[in-house]
Amino acid sequence: MNLQNVTVAGSGVLGSQIAFQSAFFGYAVTVYDINDEAINNAKERFTKLKGVYGEYFNDMEKAEAALNRLVYSTDLAEAVKDADLVIEAVPEVTEIKTNFYKNLGEVAPEKTIFASNSSTMLPSQFAEFTGRPEKFLNLHFANEIWKNNTAEVMGHPGTDAKYADIVEEFARTIGMIPFRLHKEQPGYILNSLLVPFLDAAMDLWVKDVADPHTIDKNWMISTGAPTGPFAILDVVGMTTPYNLNLAKAEKGAPYAKAIAEKLKTEYIDQGKMGVSSGEGFYKY
Ligand code: NAD
Repeated sequence: MNLQNVTVAGSGVLGSQIAFQSAFFGYAVTVYDINDEAINNAKERFTKLKGVYGEYFNDMEKAEAALNRLVYSTDLAEAVKDADLVIEAVPEVTEIKTNFYKNLGEVAPEKTIFASNSSTMLPSQFAEFTGRPEKFLNLHFANEIWKNNTAEVMGHPGTDAKYADIVEEFARTIGMIPFRLHKEQPGYILNSLLVPFLDAAMDLWVKDVADPHTIDKNWMISTGAPTGPFAILDVVGMTTPYNLNLAKAEKGAPYAKAIAEKLKTEYIDQGKMGVSSGEGFYKY
């Protein structure tokens, strides 16, 4: 199956990147969002992305052409009427995704494959609502996809491998390095490794076993890694670990409350959000 028409649903942070990347690599891309305001916000994002892609790939003309090829719609049926593939990047809220798949399943042509970019939800949570579980799976990108170009391909038990193959190949054709998971896993490969690693580092910090720079240095010298966990946290930004630890604290996880409090008082309240604000555990 040769994919040509791609619809990206949800044109926020990740959806806009996925749409631009797909257009940049030659696909006919339709951008779907809920209203004109969201589409206007997306257009601003695309204008910025044009500059980013033009510079990163050193090809302004190609970036301009990609921007001009994007088609916009706030009507789901219209947006997917020719779609070979729909990539969903709507908010990480179960109810929103469930309703989206119910509606999508009703209006999309039979041929259309559905892929979700969800960071934390499993495809089996939504498969039954799609009306085509065999053509549904997750395709998970990392933020700033033009350079952090991994794509995790993860089906649920009812996904037909032939469609996962097609989606994996699609990812390759838009410049991604695809990673195919054999089965469902919350957090995919990357976050299954990274989240416990960052948590362990923060545990050492709040228990005052060592300070962040010492922990990083030990890890880097011992393993040859270019950065340690606190430098990674600076890239992630403080909000995500703060929210994750608040949620963990509610479930009674040891140290989570102390970590959340320390992140808030010593970093977030002081505007030290990490790389994005110029200071976190390190200065930039
Ligand atoms: P976002 O809030 O920036 O964008 C969400 C977009 O969806 C908005 O444009 C919003 O108007 C739109 N939307 C809301 N309801 C909708 C609906 N019913 N139908 C269509 N569009 C709708 O969110 P985001 O950060 O781009 O995240 C989107 C998805 O991508 C989530 O599942 C998230 O887990 C995943 N993701 C995010 C990141 C990241 O770093 N931000 C990385 C990987 C994956």
